[in-house]
Amino acid sequence: MNQKPDTDIRPPIVTLMGHVDHGKTTLLDTIRRTNVVATEHGGITQHIGAYQIIFQDKPITFIDTPGHAAFEKMRSRGAEVADIVILVVAANDGVKPQTIEAIKHIKKADKPSIVAITKTDLPDINIDRIKKQLQDQNIILESFGGQVPEVEVAAPKNKGITELLEVVLLVWQLSPQPYLPEDPLEAVVVESFLDKKRGPVVTVIVKKGTLAVGQKITVDSEIITVRALIDDKDQNVDKAQPGKPVEILGFKKIFDIGGIVSDLTLTKSKAGQPAKTIADIIAKSEEAKESFKVVIKADVAGSLEAIMSNLPKNLLVVSSGLGEVKSGDIVVAKLANAPILAFNLKINGQIKSQAEREGVVIKNYNVIYELLSDMQDVVALYEQAKHELKIIGRAKVVATFDVDGKKIAGAKVTHGRLKIGDQILLKRDNLKQEAKIVSLKRFKKDLEQVTNGQDCGIGINPSLDVRIGDIIESLG
Ligand code: GDP
Repeated sequence: MNQKPDTDIRPPIVTLMGHVDHGKTTLLDTIRRTNVVATEHGGITQHIGAYQIIFQDKPITFIDTPGHAAFEKMRSRGAEVADIVILVVAANDGVKPQTIEAIKHIKKADKPSIVAITKTDLPDINIDRIKKQLQDQNIILESFGGQVPEVEVAAPKNKGITELLEVVLLVWQLSPQPYLPEDPLEAVVVESFLDKKRGPVVTVIVKKGTLAVGQKITVDSEIITVRALIDDKDQNVDKAQPGKPVEILGFKKIFDIGGIVSDLTLTKSKAGQPAKTIADIIAKSEEAKESFKVVIKADVAGSLEAIMSNLPKNLLVVSSGLGEVKSGDIVVAKLANAPILAFNLKINGQIKSQAEREGVVIKNYNVIYELLSDMQDVVALYEQAKHELKIIGRAKVVATFDVDGKKIAGAKVTHGRLKIGDQILLKRDNLKQEAKIVSLKRFKKDLEQVTNGQDCGIGINPSLDVRIGDIIESLG
């Protein structure tokens, strides 16, 4: 069956969360059973960690491994695979500790969510009570005047399933993602296990690009050629496009969920000038407006743990692992435009020269504090560089005037341009205040815009205490 949607929208990827025994598995099974056409192999019994249904001619992908730990793990690795979260709450049991935990995850990840109230076929239930409990957790349902849609279901009786799927499509319509089969491959590991007959099996959901048999791919420093792809109906397929869940065969080991699979061949041909220093990487990352990324290798689990849990927040660890830096790490680092931070490791000569050839920076540390302190500097520099990029114009205050009780800054534009209506930052040492440009004058003439080199009078709102020496930066 071809899963390609006939629109430009990628199929939504949906995950279920909620308290144990509230009916997640039953709901997932029912959705699958009632919406997947069985093949002659009876393929729908196959469990691959995710499946796709076609509902009202539109594909929807479900992650078939409910579990908060899995969700959190993916998120912490920067792999936000789910687009929509269905929060499952049983009508007879209400909000429980794991429901609250799920709500925390949903809020942190800032995902659109839908509440499925399950087991509504049971006697003596009070649904309003559940809605109030959710309200107490700041999940305000639509029927209570809030934003979160709710559906009452009873999976064993097939009640509410169609409605739930309709709501999923509706929510997706409001914040869809594009379908990009030609983009560089990005697939996320949702399950991985060792099969006695087939060896390591890695289930992924493709988010962008196309995964194909014979393709050279990499995940968590490992490089392989895809030997086979098996879909959720137990069929061998040649390729998998965005939204599609598939098992990949060909790996030599299993992986943590949340690992990101990328295409090696494509990235090689796309690689630009090699980066030589961390500063070059900052420059490149900022062009791409990405987060600053790193690859981390450490000698033992204890040091890796200590590093990971103390890294600055806005640093993205694209890959981490134990043991010596390998060829695959360099490939991943190059791909992500990230330096490799090695802790307490010897780097062999061959690896050093490969890194040099590929323009990958390897920094070796023996003291955790030094590594962390370097990364703090890097993040600060990077944030600064990102800020610089946003600045459209800069002026230095050389005089101040009072006009009708308001301060006007006599300034010289030293960079770019300033325009009426621009948001500005008024900076003095560590003080930063926000305002808007409301007037621009030059020799008593009103102007719309002033450019580099010009002197002008700048009126701002709110009327801040502008002083000589202050810097005005326009963010456009
Ligand atoms: P999970 O731990 O959240 O995956 O919950 P399960 O799907 O395993 O469900 C726990 C129990 O509740 C099972 O015995 C299910 O048969 C039962 N169950 C699930 N959904 C419903 C429902 O809508 N109505 C009724 N009556 N029982 C349900």
